[in-house]
Amino acid sequence: MMVDIRSQTQEDLQNQFILWDQPVYRLAQLLQWLYAHRVESWDQMSNLPKALRVLLQQTYAMSFPVLARKQGSRDTTEKFLWRLADGALIESVLIPESDGLFGEASDRHTLCVSTQVGCAYGCKFCASGLEGWKRNLQPDEIVNQVLAVERCEGPYRDGRLIDNLVIMGMGEPLANYDNLLKALKILNAPWGAKIGARRITVSTSGLAPQIRRLAEEPFQFRLAVSLHGATDETRGKIMPVNTKYPLDALAAACEYYQKKKGRMITLEYILIAGVNDGLDQIAPLAKLARRLRAKVNLIPYNKVEGLPWSRPDEQAQNAFLAALEKENVAATLRREKGHDIEAACGQLRLRTEQELQLS
Ligand code: SF4
Repeated sequence: MMVDIRSQTQEDLQNQFILWDQPVYRLAQLLQWLYAHRVESWDQMSNLPKALRVLLQQTYAMSFPVLARKQGSRDTTEKFLWRLADGALIESVLIPESDGLFGEASDRHTLCVSTQVGCAYGCKFCASGLEGWKRNLQPDEIVNQVLAVERCEGPYRDGRLIDNLVIMGMGEPLANYDNLLKALKILNAPWGAKIGARRITVSTSGLAPQIRRLAEEPFQFRLAVSLHGATDETRGKIMPVNTKYPLDALAAACEYYQKKKGRMITLEYILIAGVNDGLDQIAPLAKLARRLRAKVNLIPYNKVEGLPWSRPDEQAQNAFLAALEKENVAATLRREKGHDIEAACGQLRLRTEQELQLS
């Protein structure tokens, strides 16, 4: 199988261009076609000599995801379901104009991307984990979600639409560590998608060793941890990963990341009625948030068909938020945009796969 050209860094391509005895400016032209113009075919690269285009085509694949389904509209959350070259389906979610979900005063266009087809981590409340893990995404399949959404949504100012990137869609990002890092290098690079590292949030269900590894990388990515329970007992009920990395190990890894990067961490906390919305969670959650200098994002649960969980009523949501604030924890209650469009991660894909099986 040929490697996809959008899985290559500038350095990888430079080495190849040296072997081919190609001048440096040709590489700059190629990168422009790939990341500024987001082309889907070699023939579109009109200022590259035909011989070079043939050489590129013989050496690299260049695939682009096909839009299988889209839900939502420009002024609300939009969900994109992509079909990859092997037929696998993945989701990306575009969230316009929100109130600084990940630390900025106003996140204008936040895109949430997938890193795996399915997920092996089996969080009990999640649609993505329902059918297990199928495969890791390649770097180009992560990068292309950004480029493909920008192609769908254009035109936009300054050549780019996505201001913020959240690596939180389908899959456990840190379980696909090497491909993710390569994709993030490309998305962050001035020759690539030009998204600042401080505007990229990497989310994890709590893989403590990989959090430490990420802390050693020379990038200032934000870290978001899907906590969803502030005691081992509560978290363990809904997140099997807690058996392998209990809260002590997870907190120590997060603290290491926080100290190394000097950056605020976000703790994601999906409120599920009768499971983790009890006020007994407040004291341990506040203690952890203070220790990590973390902000807590409370997200009322989005119902997933076939799963027994439900969201607490608004009174219970507000009481949980107020109790946290009383403990001087920076917290937000995020009533998900797109509640009506199967907003929970993996639902659109799951529904489409079920329909395909029935047809
Ligand atoms: S919440 Fe994230 S880590 Fe957990 S099963 Fe779903 S996709 Fe996987």
